[in-house]
Amino acid sequence: MLKFCYNQFMQPELFKYFKYFKPVKVFLINLSLIILLFITAIYLGIYLRTNNLLLRTARNQAASYFDLIVTTRSWNAHYGGVYVEKKGDVKTNPYLRKIGVEPDVRCEDGRVLTLRNPAAMTGEISDLTNSKSGVKFNITSLKLINPDNAPDRFEEKALLEFEHGKREVWEIDRKAEQPALRYMKPLFIEQPCLRCHASLGYKLGDIRGGISVSIPLRELDQTMKTNKVIILSLSTITLGLLLGTSYLMARQLVRKLDAAQEQLREISITDELTGLRNRRYIVERLKEEIKKTKRSEKPLGVIMIDIDHFKQVNDTHGHAFGDAVLKTIARRIRANLREYDLVGRFGGEEFLVICPEFSFDATIELAERICGIIRIKTITEGTTEVSATVSAGATVLNKEDINIDSLISRADNALYRAKEQGRDRVVAL
Ligand code: GH3
Ligand code: MG
Ligand code: MG
Repeated sequence: MLKFCYNQFMQPELFKYFKYFKPVKVFLINLSLIILLFITAIYLGIYLRTNNLLLRTARNQAASYFDLIVTTRSWNAHYGGVYVEKKGDVKTNPYLRKIGVEPDVRCEDGRVLTLRNPAAMTGEISDLTNSKSGVKFNITSLKLINPDNAPDRFEEKALLEFEHGKREVWEIDRKAEQPALRYMKPLFIEQPCLRCHASLGYKLGDIRGGISVSIPLRELDQTMKTNKVIILSLSTITLGLLLGTSYLMARQLVRKLDAAQEQLREISITDELTGLRNRRYIVERLKEEIKKTKRSEKPLGVIMIDIDHFKQVNDTHGHAFGDAVLKTIARRIRANLREYDLVGRFGGEEFLVICPEFSFDATIELAERICGIIRIKTITEGTTEVSATVSAGATVLNKEDINIDSLISRADNALYRAKEQGRDRVVAL
C-alpha cells in the first residue's frame, strides 16, 4: 500500500511535469495541508459536539430518573408511607422505631403489614433498576438517620456544593469500579418529611440531603466508540476524495500547462513559413555543437545555402509563389539530411545546415547532393512551374575557430564565391 502511494504520488508523471511547473507542486502541497487542516477541524468539531450531546442525553436521562423518583417519594410521603404485606423476604424497617414510628400492623385477617417510608422505597426501587439496567439511586445526607446511606466522594462533594447554592451537580466517573455518569440534586424539607426529620433540627424548605443517580457508562461508551469509528471513516473518505480530486485536477492542469509550454517552445524555435528551425535556434545549436566537437575532436561540417535569383521568382510569379518555392526547397533540403543533422532558416532565402561528425569531403558531398536535387526537379505550384537552383558555401570547424562567427563567416565567404562563380554550385573553404 505504502509502495503504491509512493509510486502514485511521489515519483511518476506528475513530478516529471513539475520539473517545469514547480509552483503547481507547491500549490498542491499547500492545498493538501489546508484541506487536511479544514477536514480535521470540521470532523474534530463534529466528534466533540456529538460526544457532548451524548453526554447531555445521559445527563437528561439521569435528571428524568431523579424527577421520577422524587415524584414517587412525594406520592409515598403524601400518604405518610405505604403499607406492604410482610411476607417472603419483606422485612420491617428498623429505623422507623428509632424515630418513634411503629412500622408493623396486624390485620383482622391475621396478615402483618409493614410501613415503607420514602427512603426505604427509594432503596428498593434502586435495587430493582440496578439489577435490570445498572441504574442506581442513593438518598443521602450530611446528617444521617441511616448510616448505610453515608455519601460517597461524589455525593459528599455535591452535598457541600448544594450548601453553597448549587442546585445540580454531575460528572463522569471513570475511576470507579463501574464507570458511571453521576448526577445529584438536593431534596428539600416538605411538610410530610418533618414527621421523620424534625428530630434532626430541619425546618420547612431546608436542604436535608439529595438523591444521586448513577447511570452506567457501558452503553454510552459503546455509542461514543461507534461514533468515533464513523467520524474517523467519514473524515478519511472525505480527505481521500478531496486530496485525490485535487491531485487529479492538478495533474490535468499541469498536463495542459505542459502541453501549452511545449507548444510555445515549439513556436519559439520554429520558422513559421518553412517549418524548419529558426535562426535563433540554429545559431544556439551551432554553438553547442562547436563545444561538443571541440571536446570530442571529431569534425563538424557547416553548409550555408542561398536560393539563386530568388528576387526574380518573386517579381515574376508573385510573393505567394515565392513562399511556396521557399517551402519546397526547405523540404527537399530536410529530406536529404541524416536524422542528427540540423537545418534552419538563417535568413530570407538562406539556410544553414549543421552536420555533426562530417569531414570536409563529406560536407562538400552533401552540399553537392542538395544542389543537384534542387536543380534536377522543377517546382510546381498551381499552374506555375519553375526551375530553381541554389548556391552553397561549405566548410568545417577549424582549430583556429574560437567562436561561431569565424565559422559562419567562412561559410558565408564560400557562398559568396559560389555566387560570384556563376551560382548553382558549391564552393568549399
Ligand atoms: P542571389 O542569387 O544573389 O541570391 O539573388 P537573390 O535575388 O536571391 O538575392 P536578393 O538578396 O537580391 O533577394 C532575396 C529575395 O528574397 C528578396 C526578398 O524579397 C526575398 N525574400 C526574402 N524572404 C522572403 C519570404 O519569406 N518570402 C518570399 N516570397 N520572398 C522572400
Ligand atoms: Mg538569393
Ligand atoms: Mg540571400
